[in-house]
Amino acid sequence: MIISKFGFNIGGSQLILIDYIINLSMLSLMVSTPLVIRSYLNLNPLKQLRLGAGLYAGIVSAVLVGLSFQDQGYSYDIRYSVIILVFAYLGPGSGIITGSISLASRLMVSDNWFPAIVGWLVVMTVLVVIHKFTVHFQPVKKYMILLGSYIVTYIITVPIVFNVIRDNPMFHLQYLLFVAIGVLIGGLLIESYEKLYRIIKERKRMEQTLEESESKYRLIAENTSDLIMVMDKEHTISYFSPSHEVLLGYKVQELEKIEIWMLIHPDDVVIFRDTITKIMKNKESMPVEFRFQHINGEWMDFESRCMPVMNDAQSIEYIVIISRDISERKKSEEILLQSEKLSIVGELAAGVAHEIRNPLTTIKGFVQLYGKEDKSSEINNLLLSELERIETITSEMLSLGKPQAIQLNRANLCDLIDHTVEFLSPQANMKNMQFSRSYLGTDFFITCEKNQIKQVFLNIFKNAMEAMPKGGNIDIKLQKGMDGECIISVQDEGCGIPEELLPRLGEPFYTLKEKGTGLGLMICHKIIKQHNGTISYHSKLDNGTLVEVKLPLAN
Ligand code: ADP
Ligand code: MG
Repeated sequence: MIISKFGFNIGGSQLILIDYIINLSMLSLMVSTPLVIRSYLNLNPLKQLRLGAGLYAGIVSAVLVGLSFQDQGYSYDIRYSVIILVFAYLGPGSGIITGSISLASRLMVSDNWFPAIVGWLVVMTVLVVIHKFTVHFQPVKKYMILLGSYIVTYIITVPIVFNVIRDNPMFHLQYLLFVAIGVLIGGLLIESYEKLYRIIKERKRMEQTLEESESKYRLIAENTSDLIMVMDKEHTISYFSPSHEVLLGYKVQELEKIEIWMLIHPDDVVIFRDTITKIMKNKESMPVEFRFQHINGEWMDFESRCMPVMNDAQSIEYIVIISRDISERKKSEEILLQSEKLSIVGELAAGVAHEIRNPLTTIKGFVQLYGKEDKSSEINNLLLSELERIETITSEMLSLGKPQAIQLNRANLCDLIDHTVEFLSPQANMKNMQFSRSYLGTDFFITCEKNQIKQVFLNIFKNAMEAMPKGGNIDIKLQKGMDGECIISVQDEGCGIPEELLPRLGEPFYTLKEKGTGLGLMICHKIIKQHNGTISYHSKLDNGTLVEVKLPLAN
């Protein structure tokens, strides 16, 4: 407490004010310094530094005692401001440490120990008790309450009990005001540094999490076997993952200098560019398949997902392209396609052989007749037409069996359907089945790989035939749709497909037939998808099946 030295006042109130300001500045400086240092050192929060901080605050209060100033024969200092703040921020443990040091320094600088010690004991007891009731309060509220209880305790003990300058309330008011301002300024400083400290800590934490997540993503990008490219708005690639070097053989620095379009297969460049344009327009991610050239010149198949990355204004900033090498998968699909083809060819061979025998018999008969009668021109025509038939059947069979290089061409669907029907009709005739064709129009040109589309029709027609062991009609319709596509519908009168099994069509190895492969429709789906078309089924058990293929018309 304050009663320190006895003696008489020499200076005016101005002198006190200057002394007080020095005292207060010292308090501010000593409160700020460790807090500033801490914000640089990134130390623990205030609460965890109880003992050290209590000792330090003790030293601060001792310095304040050393700088005490005189008024009306009493010397005062604002060491209680420090003690109140320590109680509020660090709790009674630290508060008692600080209080003890401040009492010791007070006892050292002057005598009159009795009121000093008794006053100290009373104030400390009050602060400990009040602290107990305010444990869960915010520090600001806490030090305001502690300050209030200190003021009340002071008024009761000093002027009333100890009878110190009872007739001059201004003296006490001035002292209490000084202590209160000390608490407020000290508290303000602590609050603002704490806030600053929290902000710095939060920023550091955010930077750290950002760094961590960045390094995590970098780790993924640098170690994935997929190709990751980042394309900017101007369609230049700003990032190539290191996997490009492993998969394609190019160094990332080399790729940065090459135009990306130079490495994409010329046939795929248009699709690739179209996809990027569509993404730019629709702002939706899209898949695309294309071939990339390995540094050794070989083409590799990739399946990519292109994802737009938006900025805050919802316009596209980047497109992230993640591509997976599907060369191996393509190869095995190719093998599957081939084996399905061969199994169909094998099955058909018997029918074909049978059908070839018929025209051969005719030819033989006419050749025998040839010597006897002279109907040469008529017979010649018949001979020729039968020979042509043998030729188409055999060449169709050969073209189906042989593996072909993919070649996109313009083709009329009517021709493709005709060829396929022609090819199957020997077997159909044998089994009492008829194909009826109705084409609503003449030119149904599409861009396609002819043999693949024929393979689709072959699979669908064969399935229809196999669904009608007792024979029947297969109705093939060709018409134009609303959106510039053409629709090929194949309706049979077969056993139909239970509704719950419809979604399974097209799954590899899904078959209900004893000798089925379950690959036919899977291959159809694959081919139709590659041609940007769709395939759908409508069927009921025992009610026939309608297969609908939609393909975009060539413009
Ligand atoms: P597979 O013909 O070798 O069995 P597919 O993939 O061609 O294999 O056909 C899968 C299954 O779909 C067939 O086993 C059959 O049960 C069913 N299916 C396909 N088309 C038809 C159809 N037109 N009528 C009835 N069932 C069909
Ligand atoms: Mg089949």
